[in-house]
Amino acid sequence: MLDYVGLESDLGEEERLIRDTARRFVEERVRPDIGDHFQEGTFPTELIEEMGEMGFYAPNLDGYGLPNVSETAYGLLMQELEACDSGLRSMASVQGALVMYPIHAFGSDEQKERWLPALGEGEAVGCFGLTEPEHGSNPSAMETTAEADGDEYVLNGSKTWITNSPIADVAVVWARESSAEGTPVRGFLVETDRDGVTTAAIHDKLSLRASITGEISLQNVRIPAENRLPGVEGMKGPLSCLTQARFGIAWGAVGAARDCFEQAREYALDRDQFGGPIARFQLQQEKLAEMATEITTAQLLAYRLAELKERGDLRPQHVSMAKRNNVRTARDQSRVAREMLGGNGITTDYSPMRHMANMETVYTYEGTHDIHSLILGEDLTGIAAFE
Ligand SMILES: Cc1cc2nc3c(=O)[nH]c(=O)nc-3n(C[C@H](O)[C@H](O)[C@H](O)COP(=O)(O)OP(=O)(O)OC[C@H]3O[C@@H](n4cnc5c(N)ncnc54)[C@H](O)[C@@H]3O)c2cc1C
Repeated sequence: MLDYVGLESDLGEEERLIRDTARRFVEERVRPDIGDHFQEGTFPTELIEEMGEMGFYAPNLDGYGLPNVSETAYGLLMQELEACDSGLRSMASVQGALVMYPIHAFGSDEQKERWLPALGEGEAVGCFGLTEPEHGSNPSAMETTAEADGDEYVLNGSKTWITNSPIADVAVVWARESSAEGTPVRGFLVETDRDGVTTAAIHDKLSLRASITGEISLQNVRIPAENRLPGVEGMKGPLSCLTQARFGIAWGAVGAARDCFEQAREYALDRDQFGGPIARFQLQQEKLAEMATEITTAQLLAYRLAELKERGDLRPQHVSMAKRNNVRTARDQSRVAREMLGGNGITTDYSPMRHMANMETVYTYEGTHDIHSLILGEDLTGIAAFE
């Protein structure tokens, strides 16, 4: 596996173990069928609990049976999952970084006890409802409301493009508390079997096909007041979750790019044209050299991010730079790999075109490439250019 500057030598025993366990799981349990899932637009739901048993959901958190592994170990896990498919990493990212993290960071003791063990073991599935039909890149304009009514809240609104909503047991819904002064954004835990909740699936995606995506419609949904996340108010609630998930994406994208590189290198060495392997052509070697360099640069950024996170010095803008760069690298390099595979490269027998299609989603969700440019632009100049 591509590790051109020997980053492996700095890994601890636990980090290697987690990486190898995830790699083996992916090779044995997921990779054989992932092309079929992609073609059929399905997710291997039978693996959700198994992934929980393996400790793939929020292993970087502590308590409630969670192992509190290093941020590098968590990153390596995301990398191995996405080397298989972005849909697999999305499952772990949403469950861990977007559902368990806010409950862990902002939830009451009762909420933590009710949900963290079940979500961690994969017995329950969660989803994260921030995006609305009319508010994607600018979620602070959200229209979904939660109105206090005695010891309950009444929720109304709709969320869209929500990973796993059709199979979720609980949704973390971000809504404006319309009955509070200033209508602040708050997080609410909404069980999906409550009256007034529907979660229609979104079909016909041409990207992230091995992942379940849907809407969340909320029509006069009554939830107990204690379902509100007590520990956070305002956009820093959802944004802090996104920072966690984007950290995993910065690592995961390296996995997808690495997988493309490995397939292209192997193919170039095996495929003969004009009397020998295509790997002997300078044009093909230039592509491999560029790919390896870009992937190595992305790896270094991901490793540095984990160091900064570990010591508490990670800023959201650091994560924006890495998400932006590493996903762009994976998007660009998956295309080069596809090209090197010739006609075979457009089939599901090989991964590059699947990764290439997936990267269109990864480039767009969790803050589009443009939005991360604006975040960095503001950080570098002090001038916000969002509006
Ligand atoms: C498969 C999939 C899964 C997803 N899962 C989830 C999930 O689980 N939970 C969730 O809440 N959301 C999820 N999303 C939603 C995702 O986060 C949004 O699609 C994303 O934030 C972009 O919003 P939008 O699609 O409305 O695009 P828009 O915001 O309408 O953007 C359209 C284009 O305009 C550009 N643009 C927007 N504003 C600016 C600006 N100020 N300056 C310059 N350019 C700008 C964008 O970069 C983009 O190119 C998912 C999306 C997909 C595709």
